[in-house]
Parts: sequence; C-alpha cells; structure tokens
Amino acid sequence: MSENKVPYKTYLEENEIPKAWYNLRADMKVKPAPLLNPGTGKPLTAEELTPIFCEELVKQELDNDTAYFPIPDDILEFYKMYRPSPLVRAYCLEKVLDTPAKIYYKFEGNNTSGSHKLNSAIAQAFYAKKQGLKGVTTETGAGQWGTALSMACAYLGLDCKVFMVKISYEQKPFRREVMRTYGASVTPSPSMETEVGRKILAEHPGTTGSLGCAISEAVEVATKNPGYRYVLGSVLNQVLLHQSIIGLETKAAFDKLGVKPDIIIGCAGGGSNLGGLIAPFMGEKLRGEADYRIIAVEPASCPSFTRGKFAYDFCDTGMICPLAKMYTLGSGFIPSPNHAGGLRFHGMSTTLSQLYHDGFMEARAVEQTSVFEAAELFARSEGLLPAPESSHAIRAAIDEALRCKETGEEKNILFGLTGTGYFDLKAYEQYNDGKMTDYIPTDEDLAKGFAGLPKIDA
Ligand SMILES: *Cc1c(COP(=O)(O)O)cnc(C)c1O
Repeated sequence: MSENKVPYKTYLEENEIPKAWYNLRADMKVKPAPLLNPGTGKPLTAEELTPIFCEELVKQELDNDTAYFPIPDDILEFYKMYRPSPLVRAYCLEKVLDTPAKIYYKFEGNNTSGSHKLNSAIAQAFYAKKQGLKGVTTETGAGQWGTALSMACAYLGLDCKVFMVKISYEQKPFRREVMRTYGASVTPSPSMETEVGRKILAEHPGTTGSLGCAISEAVEVATKNPGYRYVLGSVLNQVLLHQSIIGLETKAAFDKLGVKPDIIIGCAGGGSNLGGLIAPFMGEKLRGEADYRIIAVEPASCPSFTRGKFAYDFCDTGMICPLAKMYTLGSGFIPSPNHAGGLRFHGMSTTLSQLYHDGFMEARAVEQTSVFEAAELFARSEGLLPAPESSHAIRAAIDEALRCKETGEEKNILFGLTGTGYFDLKAYEQYNDGKMTDYIPTDEDLAKGFAGLPKIDA
C-alpha cells in the first residue's frame, strides 16, 4: 500500500477488537521484582493481597507467566461503547512541521472520562462485582481515574469512594461533579476521615496533598470496611495488562495498513498507558522478532525515570502499601504544586522500571512550558485539545519529527494521545497568560526524597 493511501483514521471492525489482554511479563527474561510485605521484607503472597485487592486481580498481579488473559464478555461489551479507538495519521501536524517523518497517534480520549483509564476501570470494577463486593475505594490525582472508575461503577451498580488529591479537588471542581453525577463520593485528601490522613495533616498542615497520601487513605478505608476493596488506576501489573488493549489495537491497525512504527512514544506517570501501548511491540522486541525505539516521556518536575533511583520503595506516603522495586523519587517526594498536569506520582510501574533498567527503552524529561507549546501546536494543527499529560508525548513526537527533518529520515513515529484537556483549562489559562513556570527540583530536593527510601537490599 502506498503511503499516501493511509487513511487519516484507521478503525478496527468491531469483530477485530482483541479478545484477550497481553501480559508483557510473560516474555521478559528478567521479571519485574516482586512486591514485598513492608513488615517482613518477604514477597507478598496472594493471601496477603486479597484483603486489599479483588481475588481475580491478585491473580493477574502475581502472574508473570501467562501471556494472554481472555477478556470477559461483559468487559468486551462495555469496550464496544467507546472502542475501538482510532489510530490517526497526523497529516496536518506533519504538514505544519514540514517533516518527512510520518506521525501516528492512538487516541484514547473518546469517552466521557476523557482518557485511557476507563480500559482498566471497567475491568477492575467487573472483578469486584463478580466477587460480590459492595464497592471499591481509590485515589485520584488530576481526576481522570476517579471519573473513569465512577463511570464503571455506575454501569455495574457498585459503590465508589474516591480520595482526590486536595489541590485537584480545589482546582478541578468540574471533574469532581462528573464523578458525583456518576454516583461516587469524593473526599479531598489528605482528609480527617482516616487515621493516615489525620497523621499526614498533623505533620504537614496546609499540604496540597499527593497521590501517595490519597492512596494511603483509600487503602485504609478499603481494609477497614467489609465488602470493599482498593483499586488503583496505574503502576500495578494488572493495570498494564488491561491497558494492553491500546497496543494490541494499535498493532492490529498498523498490520492492516502494512506499516511498522520505528519510534514509539508515551507519557509516563505510573506507566500504564505507556506499558499498554508498547506491550505487543515490546513483546516482539523481547522475543527478538522486531526492534523498536521506545521512549517514555516524563515531566522535568517529577523525573522518576531520568533522575530517580531503582530501588524498593513504598507506593504511598503513609507507608502502609507494599514495597515495589521501581524507579522512584522516594515516597516522601511531593511534586511542586505549580506543576499543571498529572504524572505526579513519585514511582513507576515495576515492569517498565525493569525494562528501562535492562536497556529495552529510553526515557526523557520535558519542561512544562515546552509541553504546552507542543499542546498548542497540536491543537491548532490536528484540532484536538490534548490533555497536559498526553502533551508530554506530543512534545517528544514533535522533537523526533523535527530531528527527521534535519536528517531527511522518513521514520514512522507513533505516540499515545491518552486524553483530552477540557478539564485542564486552568493550566491552559496559565500558559496563555504567560504565567506558566518550569519547576525542576534541585539535587538537594531529590536527596530529601531519597533519604526516606526503606533500607532493603534486593
Ligand atoms: C492518568 C493519565 C496519564 C498517566 O498515567 P499512566 O499510568 O502513566 O498512563 C496520562 N494521560 C492521561 C490523559 C491520564 O489521565
């Protein structure tokens, strides 16, 4: 097929939507390090995890060997409401950049929650329902995960309690109201409703909160209330597994077009969209069947991959969650409140951390104003208003396309457009008013976070 025949959008037929999730860990020679019990320092067992997580999700979390998990029919039905998502050839952006590169993006913002998070939210809510639970608890940062989970819980008739990072609760009242419309209860975190929240508030009065704090609160409520479990929107292996639907669809669409991406780019907060997007491609790379350049893009203000340490750390600020071996800035690291987008988590998926450590992917950090410059250019050329998180990937894709312009290379660049930015207009306002700043933590700032790393030799 000649290049100019590639349609602007490629959709799979409904019957071509993948019927199984792909578990990247099955093809990893070096598996991600196991989660540890913070009390004993030993790998967590399924029995220890089931008071926190749903049974089926615990199985998925701990399974490093099964390559494919069939997607239950009920989840496939739900997926049909907003999937397949389009693979878009960014002809208009290419033209503006005057690049010989061919830019593609997989657009995950075409549902009310506005992001890819719904792919895992419906799966996690489904397994909670199947187990006969009353409800689930969770945290949300920028609000996309809470919104996605609220939608999924409303669909299945589950109760949903969301702890929302305080600064987002205050700055993003509209997301809060979407969640409440879907029937969720939303509490700003840290709150006085939990022991850990009260402790964090006593130690840091006036804190604007962090994902780490909100996780601690949600876990506490789940474990103290019968019939509730905790669910998490990123970082965990199970979430990457569900998000593999993004990559599987993308790969199938590329195969239909007879095109192979050379460079695959995704923004990285906890790693779920990137892990999902790259899954089948990384699988080929791990099996030695194909090679791709894979790039994780993170904010310079929260640089887990590029300046973090590969070490065991807590996933939450309250230090009640399991220890995970990952690239981390320390669970006490609280990103600057003037950082506009999501991607604020101190750690990173253990799977992606291992792959990065073993040299299977690259990472780069980008500054906030250059991210919004890219967002603006994308909005003006491709029409879609991107989420600030997604715009990190756009920045890197544009930079790679501009590099191709210098070298004359016609590379195929793929990036994940994880969501839309309609609820992020405060950040766009800052940018448009010229008031956006770039915050880059100093080495001393980072040293404070590292000082709090648990002492574990593993
Ligand atoms: C949550 C979110 C991200 C980052 O989370 P990952 O787990 O790293 O994918 C990126 N983009 C959007 C739109 C999000 O909502």
